[in-house]
Amino acid sequence: MRVGIIGGGQLARMLILAGYPLGLDFTVLDPARDACAASLADHICAPYDDRDALARMAEDCDVITYEFENVSLEGLERLQQRTRIHPPLQALAESRDRLREKNLFRRLDIPTAKFIAIDSESDLREAPKTLGWPFLVKTRRFGYDGKGQFLVRTAADMERAWRELGGNPLIGESFIPFQREVSIIAVRRRNGDMAFYPLSENVHRDGILHVARCRPRDSQTARAEDYACRLLEHLDYVGVLALELFEVHGRLLANEMAPRVHNSGHWTIEGSEISQFENHLRAILDLPLGDTEPVGHAAMVNFIGVLPTLADVLEQPGVHCHFYGKVERPGRKVGHATVRASSATALEARLHHLLALLP
Ligand code: AMP
Repeated sequence: MRVGIIGGGQLARMLILAGYPLGLDFTVLDPARDACAASLADHICAPYDDRDALARMAEDCDVITYEFENVSLEGLERLQQRTRIHPPLQALAESRDRLREKNLFRRLDIPTAKFIAIDSESDLREAPKTLGWPFLVKTRRFGYDGKGQFLVRTAADMERAWRELGGNPLIGESFIPFQREVSIIAVRRRNGDMAFYPLSENVHRDGILHVARCRPRDSQTARAEDYACRLLEHLDYVGVLALELFEVHGRLLANEMAPRVHNSGHWTIEGSEISQFENHLRAILDLPLGDTEPVGHAAMVNFIGVLPTLADVLEQPGVHCHFYGKVERPGRKVGHATVRASSATALEARLHHLLALLP
């Protein structure tokens, strides 16, 4: 069976690495000649909305999936008449617009921060009446890793926020003084079978995920699973879905979802029986889902911008290294490592040593 992946970055690369033992073949579509998944698959080097390239993928592949949200929805809608595409395009359309996404959460009774649409400077001026102080202004589209956001603390900040972000469709959100950020990785197969990984507790640095810890039997597990389940069922979802949440005074507020494998689930490669990558492939190929049970205690550290020395990482006990083969550049995700240990205390000690290696 051949799987087509739109996008040839590290998520595609890890999907491919998970699929080889199952005997799967892959085609990736990516305009970058040096896309990091390109050397592992048949590479169609063309823009994401290239009609001929998409048609070739439809012809060659049994199923098509995508590794990021800003793919051409129109291109995929055309393709859908000729081949199977998972996750569903409705999930893609909802998740790539922060306002639509928050409205979907609201319809499904999934709590969120207070939010409003901001379409003009006067909407921005009125925002604190609904949102209070401080509040965040975010672009509805193309925001990731904290980009396209402005924290408005005082009336004087509004002018700058408008100068920087005005002209884009915007959303305003109350600032949540959360105690922690968590995410849940869920997976659903075509026949409706579902599985959930343990919660991941996530620490960000400069808006980018820094450390994700697997939290088996977390007190918020049932609530997070319930919210993810509502989304999976409503969207008649197939594949892996990630839902990011804030915990504040014992409540969970949904921040955003990603209709794909997710950085906060990378620890599942070594830290669970079957990884999010293999389970995504199983789901979209309508194969039995694998066990999501954790294996020991696990956490993941992202390598951002620069890589530590390979030998230094490999010297650490219980550490599994993933370098993506990407050129180092500030702010770019160039690799990660999973740390595993037999107890929570041992895990923290190993994490401490690994973090000390980061440049
Ligand atoms: P996002 O691009 O929405 O995932 O936001 C990036 C990061 O900004 C999140 O991981 C949070 O740490 C922070 N953030 C986003 N929205 C809020 C909010 N409403 N209140 C407080 N922090 C937020």
